[in-house]
Amino acid sequence: MDRREFIKDTLTVAALAPLARMAGAAEKGKGDDMDKKANYTGTQVTRRPYRNTGMTMPLLGFGLMRLPQKDGKVDYAIAEAMVAKAMAAGCNYFDTAYMYHGGESERFVGNVLTKYPRESYYLTSKMPIAMMNSADDNERIFKEQLERTKAGYFDFYFLHWLNAAHWEKAQSFGTLEFMKRMQAEGRIRRLGFSFHGEPETLEKIAKFHPWDLVQIQLNYLDWELCRSGEQYEVLTRLGIPVSVMEPLKGGTLVRLTPEAKAVFEKANPKASVASWGLRFAAGLPNIQVVLSGMSAMEHIEDNLRTFSPLVPLSDAERKTMAEALAAYRKSGAVPCTGCRYCSPCPMGVDIPRNLALLNQVKGGLPLFHAKLVYDAMKEKERALSCVSCGACLKKCPQQIRIPDFMAQIAKNFA
Ligand code: SF4
Ligand code: SF4
Repeated sequence: MDRREFIKDTLTVAALAPLARMAGAAEKGKGDDMDKKANYTGTQVTRRPYRNTGMTMPLLGFGLMRLPQKDGKVDYAIAEAMVAKAMAAGCNYFDTAYMYHGGESERFVGNVLTKYPRESYYLTSKMPIAMMNSADDNERIFKEQLERTKAGYFDFYFLHWLNAAHWEKAQSFGTLEFMKRMQAEGRIRRLGFSFHGEPETLEKIAKFHPWDLVQIQLNYLDWELCRSGEQYEVLTRLGIPVSVMEPLKGGTLVRLTPEAKAVFEKANPKASVASWGLRFAAGLPNIQVVLSGMSAMEHIEDNLRTFSPLVPLSDAERKTMAEALAAYRKSGAVPCTGCRYCSPCPMGVDIPRNLALLNQVKGGLPLFHAKLVYDAMKEKERALSCVSCGACLKKCPQQIRIPDFMAQIAKNFA
């Protein structure tokens, strides 16, 4: 562990060693229920060692892709207060990317995180392979990221959104070689990638380089649906720590359906629905950090309760989760995370909004109410404007059959 990392850890952990011991005890006691946790008065999130380096990282990471908004812009007053709350609780891992909020997420880092000592937080950003046009973009984009974030260096730097096609593109542009050069120059500490694809492709990329951290989509719905369980196994077998994105599938696992929510609420009325999904992901031993894209103060407050300390799900709670999942699957909801990677649609269709409406109907919203919202949308944004060109299909990490659903919505909402 270098000096900076020592400071980072001691700032957030050593002063609260007794609480950390309690967290450790809770992790061992897998059968502990949430009622015991509710009596816990600590305020520091559970940390996990990073390999054998002596460095630890918070199990809860702050995803900066869904920052609070006001009048279409990042609401700095609330977002900055949320960051302050996170930092005070030792939640000092921040994940941004070139494309989040059209660049405003990285600028937010530059305007807000820089108020804290650089050694007191971990920062990850990513090279947007999908947006690159030539090898020259490596340098241009990276320079812009350093300027936006004013961070001086990135603790982790990823190839963003790899799949078979993007990996090929990154290789043809020499992006990994560029990243290694930046690492040698001290602009990057550790290398990784974020991934949306098949486990077979993941294994191929994972074996290509001794990566320091790999980010995958992992949650209890996608464990089988998007084969994230197999992805987790691949990385664990290869000894690569895992960063989790979309642990709540972009809020899908908070909204769920009334029937699925009722299962969780009956089992533990005190626990938030979100806490179940986060505890599922964070309870897996090879998880280094679970990212939560928090967009309101109550999100960080609830998440800090969940992670201070993190109590993995008991066997009984896993059964409850399986029941809730079965209830959710019955609704036939579309697994859209609202990530907007499919946008813009050349015809102007607001794909995630249409899918969200469809899901609300599947979740019990009367069709009449949904139609009112649908009719209030601009004509080009409605599903009926879809011409089935298929341009969105390749872009959706969830492999949703978007044109089919647009046709379904256009018919049902007519
Ligand atoms: S298939 Fe439909 S929704 Fe998708 S990009 Fe084409 S027009 Fe837009
Ligand atoms: S349809 Fe796919 S790409 Fe578009 S917002 Fe939903 S999950 Fe994201």
